[in-house]
Amino acid sequence: MRRKIIEFREVSFRYEDEGPWVLKNCSFEIYENEWVAIIGHNGSGKSTIAKLMNGLLFPQEGEIYINGEQVNQESIWDIRKEVGMVFQNPDNQFVGTTVQDDVAFGMENRGFPREVMVKQIEDSLQAVGMHAYRQTEPHRLSGGQKQRVAIASVLAIAPKVLILDEATAMLDPKGRTEIMNTVSKVQENKKLSLITITHDLREVVQAERVIVMNAGVIWDEATPREIFTKKDELRKIGLDVPFVAILADELVQAGIAIHDEPLN
Ligand code: ADP
Repeated sequence: MRRKIIEFREVSFRYEDEGPWVLKNCSFEIYENEWVAIIGHNGSGKSTIAKLMNGLLFPQEGEIYINGEQVNQESIWDIRKEVGMVFQNPDNQFVGTTVQDDVAFGMENRGFPREVMVKQIEDSLQAVGMHAYRQTEPHRLSGGQKQRVAIASVLAIAPKVLILDEATAMLDPKGRTEIMNTVSKVQENKKLSLITITHDLREVVQAERVIVMNAGVIWDEATPREIFTKKDELRKIGLDVPFVAILADELVQAGIAIHDEPLN
């Protein structure tokens, strides 16, 4: 049986004491080496979940466990070694003057020994296909390349969980493809649990499991295949079904394509 890496137990959260609850009684688990997509309309609570996962926020009600340890003020430094995050804006994530300095920065902060650093920087830049750019100044890179370096910086600290919070939202289609390809390659190595947060249904296809958020509650938890059978319900909670998925259905209905058989 796979080990639990993240557990939310009846978590509720609000930003202000008397303010509205933005998460209500959320319970879910994420397992070792699993790829889970969290999807929902803007404002449904996805980013709040991500921030609760690495101790940037704490719940008023319920409990969160990462790798068996409860997230609280005392445990946040342990937790942040286990959970790495990549955010939406690639330009807000750089501190180094070269790509490799940048990857080194997070490791220096966490006190990695020098020999380990050299190897991990090499390995993580290789893993995202950015090794050839190790001496490049980050501002010379494309958006997709910047996000690949941001992913490498997280991989270098060897976390148990990598969270991508709308990491493709500011990228052009090429950059988006680059990131999705990088992410699936990283996941093939099965060394960490991957959580991709998105409002774009196209990005859930490769995940093993999908958690659908709506107005602060877990609306559904299912495989991508099951999710795509609920197109009408998804539309009602503000999630646009990709044109290709609608076309695929229409082709099946017209008898031109058959479910489970790819079109050649
Ligand atoms: P998502 O990532 O799905 O777009 P968020 O988790 O960012 O959703 O936001 C959930 C709700 O919390 C929204 O109603 C949003 O307006 C509110 N919210 C987010 N950040 C803050 C904040 N810093 N202060 C007050 N309310 C916030």
